[in-house]
This record gives sequence, C-alpha cells and structure tokens, in this order.
Amino acid sequence: MKRLLLSCTPALPRWAGRAADEGGTCVVCQHACATRACACSYMHQKCAATYVKKFSPHCSMCQQKVQTANLDPAPEPTREERRLASEQKQLRRARDLAWRAHFHQWDVAIWPSVAHAFRFQRPSGARALFLHMSMQDYQDAFRQRHMDRGRSRDEADDFIASLLVLSREFDALSPKTRSVFHAGIVRGFAFTAQRRREAVDLEAHLRRRSGPLTPHAAEGSADALSLSDGASGAGSD
Ligand SMILES: [Zn+2]
Ligand SMILES: [Zn+2]
Repeated sequence: MKRLLLSCTPALPRWAGRAADEGGTCVVCQHACATRACACSYMHQKCAATYVKKFSPHCSMCQQKVQTANLDPAPEPTREERRLASEQKQLRRARDLAWRAHFHQWDVAIWPSVAHAFRFQRPSGARALFLHMSMQDYQDAFRQRHMDRGRSRDEADDFIASLLVLSREFDALSPKTRSVFHAGIVRGFAFTAQRRREAVDLEAHLRRRSGPLTPHAAEGSADALSLSDGASGAGSD
C-alpha cells in the first residue's frame, strides 16, 4: 500500500516552485519572479505554460521538465505594455497579410519556374527550399526557366530577394501564413508534374502519328514540348 501511494504521488523536484533565494527575472516575460519552473529558470505560471506550448516541455538550458504548477501568477501588464503588445500584434498581422498576397501571386507566376530548378530533387520543406534557392546553381536554373516561360528577369530577381527576406522572417509568421506558403509550393510542384506528364504523353502521341518530332510539328504546344525536356531529365515523375 505504501509503495502504491509512493508511485502515485511523485515528489516534486527540490528546485520546483518557490525559490529558496529572493528570486530573479522570469525568462519568458522578463518581470520579477520568485518561482522556478526548472532547475535553472524562473517563470510565472502562465509563462511556463506558454514556454511548454510554444517551445518545449523541457528547458533548453538544463533539460529538466518545465513545471507548470505551483508557480507565481504573472503580473498584470501595464497600460504601456498593453499598448505596445497591441501595436506589435497589428504589425505582425500586416506583415502576414503582405506575405500572403505575395504567396498568391507566386502560385502561377513563380512556382512552375521554381519546380523546374528542383526537377531532380524536390525540397523536403520550406527550410530546404530557402537553403537551395540561396545557391547559385538553383538560382540560375530557376531564372533561366522563368525567362524561357516568357517572364521577366526582374521578376525572377525580385523573387530571389524576397525569398531571402522570407527565410529570415518565416518562423515569426503565423501558422496560417506558413501553411499558405507550403500549399503554394505543393500546388506548384503538382501542377508542373501534371504538365510534364501531359507533355510526355503528347510527345509520344505525336511521335506515333508523324515520326520524329520537330519543334514546328506540334502547333500551339511549344510550352508543353519544352516542359518535356524537363521530364526526360527528371526521370519517371
Ligand atoms: Zn513571466
Ligand atoms: Zn532549466
């Protein structure tokens, strides 16, 4: 029985809760705080919950599990702090909306050209895309493809510059805005893959009908044919 009780009520680590010293500064909100949430850091109750939700259930410094009970409540924000917070929220929202407008624009204008630069290997996510697109080879392949599609070099250069800024701001964007970006990439690649399959089918069809294909043989399908170049390099996708 005694054993059962012990296993049901794990003792709190000795550093948890009210600090033995006079306290310090909450690592989340930077206000005075007299309770520890882990072996190394002071946190208020709400701040510890935020830390667990947004970062990790474990402290990044001491690796201890972050406690979220028996901690001091966070102090009420002052009027000035509330004003600043609301101002920052508005700024964040404006930035999110501005990026989303960009992303919608990129759907048709940009992603088909980017997909060409990645015809041999797709990026595994936004981070990989940012990394590869910071490299000269990928930029050149993208820019060339973009101009082959009849679009301007300036537009390609603007996109590369925007992507650099986006890679720095990406983590601060809202989950919704980040998901709009991801959806755009996924659609762009799916669309390009579909076009490639159609182009390969068309080329095979025309070849069956009229022997070897010349660029003039397929009226009105110049874009489809040039896409098939990418397909032959991309293998079986
Ligand atoms: Zn706090
Ligand atoms: Zn810690």
